[in-house]
Amino acid sequence: MPVSTEAKLSALPSVDEVLRTELAERAAEDYGRPGVVKAVRAALGRARTAIRRGEEGIFSAQAIAEAAGKLLAEQARPTLRPVYNLTGTVLHTNLGRAVLAEAAAQAALQAMREAVTLEYDLDHGKRGERDEHIRDLLCELTGAEDATIVNNNAASVLLVLNTFSLHRETVVSRGELIEIGGSFRLPEIMERAGATLIEVGTTNRTHLKDYAAAIGPATGLVLKVHPSNYRIAGFTAAVPVAKLANLARERNVPILYDLGSGTLIDLKGLGFAHEPTIAEAIAAGADLVTFSGDKLLGGPQAGFIVGKRSLLAEINRNPLKRALRIDKIRLAAAVATLALYRNPAKLRQCLPTLRWLVRPVEEIEAIAKRLAPHLAALLSPFFEIGIVSCKSEIGSGALPLEVLPSAAIAIRPTAKRHQGQALERLGWALRKLAIPVIGRIEQQQLLLDLRCLDDEGRFLANLSGIDLSEQKGLQ
Ligand SMILES: *Cc1c(COP(=O)(O)O)cnc(C)c1O
Repeated sequence: MPVSTEAKLSALPSVDEVLRTELAERAAEDYGRPGVVKAVRAALGRARTAIRRGEEGIFSAQAIAEAAGKLLAEQARPTLRPVYNLTGTVLHTNLGRAVLAEAAAQAALQAMREAVTLEYDLDHGKRGERDEHIRDLLCELTGAEDATIVNNNAASVLLVLNTFSLHRETVVSRGELIEIGGSFRLPEIMERAGATLIEVGTTNRTHLKDYAAAIGPATGLVLKVHPSNYRIAGFTAAVPVAKLANLARERNVPILYDLGSGTLIDLKGLGFAHEPTIAEAIAAGADLVTFSGDKLLGGPQAGFIVGKRSLLAEINRNPLKRALRIDKIRLAAAVATLALYRNPAKLRQCLPTLRWLVRPVEEIEAIAKRLAPHLAALLSPFFEIGIVSCKSEIGSGALPLEVLPSAAIAIRPTAKRHQGQALERLGWALRKLAIPVIGRIEQQQLLLDLRCLDDEGRFLANLSGIDLSEQKGLQ
């Protein structure tokens, strides 16, 4: 005779009974008793629902404790986790931009674990300055007189605008009023900095005379922005920074050049289009230059401001600087990253960002060839594997038109029906792996661009845990 729902419900163990199982007692040691009690209640609640729906199952104290243990493990898993970035975008803002050099990671770790001379002058045994740690290095690498570091480049720009243009005007070309992913829109930042925006020229053409007409007694700053994430092509004109710097000097107004991604080395030597380097911007006469730590530079999130000593002194006196300052952990990583630039010949070896950017396509193809048979075995019979040429991009608005020839594993559904759904579910299964794998779907196939893959063995071991049960319903 079948057992009634009522009987099944009243046979469920009590919370106390579940808590007395060995499993729950061990869980209490790991997660704390209050959390385990909550999880057991949740597991019992699910069991009651299952019984009322007439679902079959074992609802013993042991089984409920196991279910509670699973819930606890899920809750304990951090949401900020390592992933495989096989998107083909090397500096992927949503995936944390630059992957740091080992030296930078070690420096950060040490700064976390030990007391450090963050603002302490060992020579004199008294209070020191946070900027001391990067000033000489940045000046050496850029040719600037002085330097500071803040939370990120948005903070650099905000701080400079607020220092020189509060209740005053900032002159910018209409072709450079940029929005950078997320919510960094120059006009809005300017408003929050307390600066009045004076737009000059047109979207595609701005001339020196446009700036000359706009600069007046109320001008606090002339701003030039490197159009990092877009290009205006065709019938265009922009004023080179050297000419603009001359004009600004004549009018006795400081000029800021926001380089955004900013590079310390000439990328031309690595086969890319020329990007103005920080040193070139300084040499051309920019009074101040701002750039990011975690874009092409390959370091931690940070913003740098380099330039004239007298202007940096004013910036350092701005109370906002304190609110935008960087912590010891990222400062340590930034210093270690910058130090690598002292030896450009070795840079490629130690900076993952740079190594991936210049990785030869033949090397990426070779990885694809080695991995393809393993992937084919793992994903059959639902998917077939191919190797395709593709294009990676730098990302984070650096050299937006530059595409890097690369190679990808292309995964295509074998069944002709429900292909889109099969790919969606495959993407989901890849994201559910112990180390999620992030690729991109393009033209009815899922592409895994292998430019940023280093440890193939670990990648395959991780991939062998893939759960394709969701594919069965589609066949
Ligand atoms: C990326 C970028 C910024 C913002 O830098 P973050 O480090 O992301 O805050 C500012 N200006 C330009 C031109 C940029 O490309």
